[in-house]
Amino acid sequence: MAGELIITVSGLRGIVGENLTPQVAADYGRAFGTFLRSKFSDADKLTVCMGRDSRPSGQSLASAVTSGLMTVGINVIDLGIVTTPTVGIMVKHLACAGGIVITASHNPLPYNGIKLLLDNAMAPPPDVAEQIKICFEIRDFFSDDQLKPGKISSNDKADDIHIAKVLRIVDAKAIAQKQFKVVLDSVNGAGGRPGVKLLTALGCKITPMNTEPTGIFAHTPEPTAENLTSLCDAVKKAHADIGFAQDPDADRLAIVDETGAYIGEEYTLALAAKLIFSKQTGNAAANLSTSRMIDDIAKATGGQVIRTPVGEANVASAMIKNNCIIGGEGNGGVIDLRIGPIRDSLVAMAFTLQLLAQTGKTVSQLVGEIPRYSMTKYKFPADKPKVKRILDAVKKLFPDAKIDSSDGFRFDFPDAWIHIRSSNTEPIVRVIAEAKDKAAAAKYIDAVLKIARNPG
Ligand code: MG
Repeated sequence: MAGELIITVSGLRGIVGENLTPQVAADYGRAFGTFLRSKFSDADKLTVCMGRDSRPSGQSLASAVTSGLMTVGINVIDLGIVTTPTVGIMVKHLACAGGIVITASHNPLPYNGIKLLLDNAMAPPPDVAEQIKICFEIRDFFSDDQLKPGKISSNDKADDIHIAKVLRIVDAKAIAQKQFKVVLDSVNGAGGRPGVKLLTALGCKITPMNTEPTGIFAHTPEPTAENLTSLCDAVKKAHADIGFAQDPDADRLAIVDETGAYIGEEYTLALAAKLIFSKQTGNAAANLSTSRMIDDIAKATGGQVIRTPVGEANVASAMIKNNCIIGGEGNGGVIDLRIGPIRDSLVAMAFTLQLLAQTGKTVSQLVGEIPRYSMTKYKFPADKPKVKRILDAVKKLFPDAKIDSSDGFRFDFPDAWIHIRSSNTEPIVRVIAEAKDKAAAAKYIDAVLKIARNPG
């Protein structure tokens, strides 16, 4: 809801200068620092690394959070403008107690946020997130000897460490031999600099678009079809093999094929899975709203897909628990645990190029090989009691469906699925249906909407 400070397991998000002020940021830093002091008794371990996306408000918020952390005796390593997955990588690389990313991801420029990572590079589990939230709200901070504040230092090696890790898990030589023509649109976010570096290391001929980290977004930042028309045109004009679009903190990637067509974010994970399953057998994990394409790809080599509630940490936890070889979310988020438990657009770019190199096929040919589905999304306002009434009625309507109730309700049918879930941050319900074609998906959505109009 606009105007409200939103606090979830992933951290805090608000509108800069309205509800997200330097005081709020400093207090949130103090709350996280207070939690870390309760968890670690070893003073040497009390270091956090911090990165930010390129939003103009990032530096002042980072300074405020740093101030809050130092006040409670936490050391801060400033990574500067880096991608969200880079911070996760550095938390582990530098053996930090935690990490902080100043980002509002794909949200418009007035927003910013403070994302928290624990020492495993993952968002805190719900009970820990609640503990930090309460500490922040009642301002019950660790009170230290003010003569011993935390120290600040910086590290400018984060991009190189991240890129080196990605290069180790692909055949960089084979990719470089192809000299792919790539257009990269980084929306002037954090992904441009490392994105260009990675593609250069992979021998690509790059047409850079919006790769300067100015934070002045060249278009609406969510990497959806309507926001990427200029990328599609640039791919056509450059006769490129592929176009890549990152969101401002570069954890998500969207792909444009060699004809200049936006293929849809669901294909980013599908193509990554196609590569990984071509090399090894195993299982994958994806959230309940992710396309069935990944199930088809896994099944072809005897693998399975473990479905999880929506949210990166849920997918990453399932991947760790089940030793998954690939995972992610349908919004262009690819996770490979060899790099880190965070969605990573650099991993997604490298995997897609590796797939192109090893198959010799074009993006559109590879997309054509994956069983095609049509996904329809809809949202409407509903409070919790109404949502319950709707779900009860939908359950009666589909008595034969296989039901997963771990995050809202997902109803699976042989030819389709429908996922109904309440938003964590707004009084709305999201409905996603996927079927073989648009008409079939619309049939399921219409059935739910009919119930929603009169849930009984
Ligand atoms: Mg993002």
